Amino acid sequence: MKVVDFALGDVSRVAHGWTVAVLPEGYTQAELDAGLFDADVAKFVKRLLVTPPFSDAGLRPLLNVVKVRKASAHTGNTIHLITPTPTTSPFGTMFGAMFGRDLFQGHQIERAIYGDDVAVKDAVHNEPGLKAVNHFLVLINNTQTDGGCMHNEVGWFTKFSASWPDVAIHELGHQAFRLADEYPYRNDSSDPVSTYPGSDPTEPNITTVTDVATMKWSEVLTLPQSQVPTTMRATPCVRNHPVIAANPPIPADAVGAYEGAQHHDCGVFRPSLQCRMREETRPFCRVCEMTAHIDIGHYLVDARAGSEYGAGAWTHVQSFAAGANPERMLSYNAATGAYAISAAATYRFPTRRPDGTPPIDSHNPTVGTGSLGADWTWLAPFDFGGSPHYFGHQFGSGTQGIFATDATFTSVGLTHATPPGHASHTHVVTLNLGGAPHYIGYNSLTGDAGLFRLDSDTADPVPVSTMQWGVGHTAVVPIMIGSEPYVMTYRMSTGELMIRHLTPSGFTMAFASPSGFWKRNVTHVALLDLDNRPYLVRYSGFDGRAAVHHVRDGGTGVDLVCRVPSLGPGALSILGAGAPVMGRVQLPEPNSGKSPWLYIYNALKQTLNLTPVEAR
Ligand SMILES: [Zn+2]
Ligand SMILES: [Zn+2]
Repeated sequence: MKVVDFALGDVSRVAHGWTVAVLPEGYTQAELDAGLFDADVAKFVKRLLVTPPFSDAGLRPLLNVVKVRKASAHTGNTIHLITPTPTTSPFGTMFGAMFGRDLFQGHQIERAIYGDDVAVKDAVHNEPGLKAVNHFLVLINNTQTDGGCMHNEVGWFTKFSASWPDVAIHELGHQAFRLADEYPYRNDSSDPVSTYPGSDPTEPNITTVTDVATMKWSEVLTLPQSQVPTTMRATPCVRNHPVIAANPPIPADAVGAYEGAQHHDCGVFRPSLQCRMREETRPFCRVCEMTAHIDIGHYLVDARAGSEYGAGAWTHVQSFAAGANPERMLSYNAATGAYAISAAATYRFPTRRPDGTPPIDSHNPTVGTGSLGADWTWLAPFDFGGSPHYFGHQFGSGTQGIFATDATFTSVGLTHATPPGHASHTHVVTLNLGGAPHYIGYNSLTGDAGLFRLDSDTADPVPVSTMQWGVGHTAVVPIMIGSEPYVMTYRMSTGELMIRHLTPSGFTMAFASPSGFWKRNVTHVALLDLDNRPYLVRYSGFDGRAAVHHVRDGGTGVDLVCRVPSLGPGALSILGAGAPVMGRVQLPEPNSGKSPWLYIYNALKQTLNLTPVEAR
């Protein structure tokens, strides 16, 4: 029998994926040969893959579970509590695990079981191709006594409870994602009540801060300050504080601040009533799930800190349509009608004079300027016959215009205009359907949306279908998933997100979030297609925070996979929410190739921020 065997994934994915090693403790060679450990790990993997966030198909290609099968001289069922715990194990198991290794009020905590953490890590790292593994679980072949513990970055657990795979995932929560326990006692629920004595802890799922503006999970709170803290305060301290009364009652899955966590009853708060980190058979709460999702998603997408460049006064900054010279951007000022085309790469790699010295304004990227006339509220890029175009719309008059770039991509000119009187849209976005450019016009005041086809750059758009989406959406983003068209909308007043699947006759709803799903302050959402996979980037011009979300297959949801290093507040435009000043631009790398960058134009500072976003 080989020592190393992958229960999920393979060794080629370890360097670019998220890998947990599972090791046997107290499995004899005969038990290993009989497949007992393999069957146990298979149970764990089966459970893992139905537990969010591991169940997300988008993360699946990143996950590896590797078995490092080390035999013990004796079976683990002989391991039992010895008082006091001896310094070396008398049980003859590979890693010397023993119960009762931590004390509470002078007494052994029986279920605190662990052994030689260094030997566990060495056993993994000494195997070829496993040097990069840094998540370790030890499965103890003991069904007699409940035990589970995280010690020196190794998670240990016994098979006492029928739900031991859930216990294993709880220990993984500690080991891989630095999550704290969310239960209030140390040893068991008969412990005396206690109050947390320290300052705000570092773990992402517990806090002493209940100010909704500054607390660590403020971006996923679903309750207002009047319901945070979400449980009743008690003097003297009690165990299991009741949820505050409210009308309507606070939903069971609300994210707020519930008192009692990290082995204390008072003075420290957890995000939700229930969580895998509080009770082993529950799902992870939203904060714990998001933390794990970001940690694993880090192997999918990574954003490094960006740079800011002076960029002039604009209301719109839009990259060219993907495919058609994606390095160039069009900046437009709706008040003056002026535009500039810039080669975004110049921001990063200043052009030089023939003698090699940089020009005076080394970062001036402008390759062409002119006027489009004032008052275009939307300029949406599309590709027509392989050349970059923009579809223009004037909110109010309903005038529409089609603009084409010249052969050198240095100027833009009107090729067709419709007379005023066309239905007025607050949002216009372009998408490619069946090889033909289309656009969606949406009016957030009436809720009406329409799909139109652009057959030519010298003719009126052709209406295809009309839809009613409801009023008040403040961002509209088309998304292609495989070859299927979807459109995402976000409503700032409620924090709701919806994803609709566009069909020839209209749409079907693929995802409708609860209110407060995103914070009610997102001013910009843009598509960020990386590696042919759909991501959304959201940004708030109020707090300057941005994050990247992966879109699930079938448009059935979005998951946060990456926080963008702070962009700072201030990006806005004449349209307010959803304004087109953010997106993806493709920039050349110094050595070779091109990589995607996120651009965002900040109207207050008149700067362009370029942030490298890497798909791994
Ligand atoms: Zn725990
Ligand atoms: Zn939690």
